[in-house]
Amino acid sequence: MKVRTLVAVFLLCAVVVPGQEKKGYRTSPVGYSDTPVLPGQKWRVHDIARPHPAVVTPGAKPGDPPSDAIVLFDGKDLSHWTAETKHGPAAAAWKVEKGYMEIVPGSGTLVSKEKFSDIQLHIEWAAPAAITGDSQWRGNSGILIMNRYEIQVLDSYHNLTYADGQAGAIYGQWPPLVNAARKPGEWQSYDIVFEAPKFEGGRLVKPAYATVFLNGVLLHNRKEIIGRMAHRVVGTYAPHAAEEPLGLQDHDTPVRYRNIWVRRVKGYDQP
Ligand code: MG
Repeated sequence: MKVRTLVAVFLLCAVVVPGQEKKGYRTSPVGYSDTPVLPGQKWRVHDIARPHPAVVTPGAKPGDPPSDAIVLFDGKDLSHWTAETKHGPAAAAWKVEKGYMEIVPGSGTLVSKEKFSDIQLHIEWAAPAAITGDSQWRGNSGILIMNRYEIQVLDSYHNLTYADGQAGAIYGQWPPLVNAARKPGEWQSYDIVFEAPKFEGGRLVKPAYATVFLNGVLLHNRKEIIGRMAHRVVGTYAPHAAEEPLGLQDHDTPVRYRNIWVRRVKGYDQP
């Protein structure tokens, strides 16, 4: 009898325990094929046939490169860069130490060996701690996207200059929405989404757009770029290749950079 009871209890458990597990585990459909079609799209609401986005593993901590990023500078060397000097192309000659690179004034703008079109860019920079000038002579450099569209780098902490030339400005065109600059010498971060312009038959058919965050603060939301970077004149577009290198401006000031990575964005349309 006792053995029978034990067997009965065992069987009861075998039936009840999985049942209990099922109780706390809920399932739902992974898509539908009888829902309305979304306006302007070929997909239905929750379409079961809609392709899924690629999996990207994010960096271990904020600011770290995700799994599909191209790391252009990891603090070690300038192997991803060349220099554009007054005398033409040259080996990159910026100083590399302690995990950052520093502009050697007069050594030329750094230009990435790789070329890009639409990108997400993360880049960290620091203006010199020592103040040796004012306005545009305080920590001036620049992120030259496609080596011509400039997101300004400048020490803009209590430093008056023209609004469209301060840190985060689309230089000479659009001031940033706010001034989110840290003190000189402190590390700051740009996160930039850039849509490359498009040319057809030598004519501009779509301008470039930039979305920019400085230290996590929004400076531009898909702002239309008027043309290439220019000083004291209106920048204009001139046709160029679909992919161009990233430039870091040498403006005769020892600005530092670190942790530079880029993600190629293959169009901005959702799958
Ligand atoms: Mg500049």
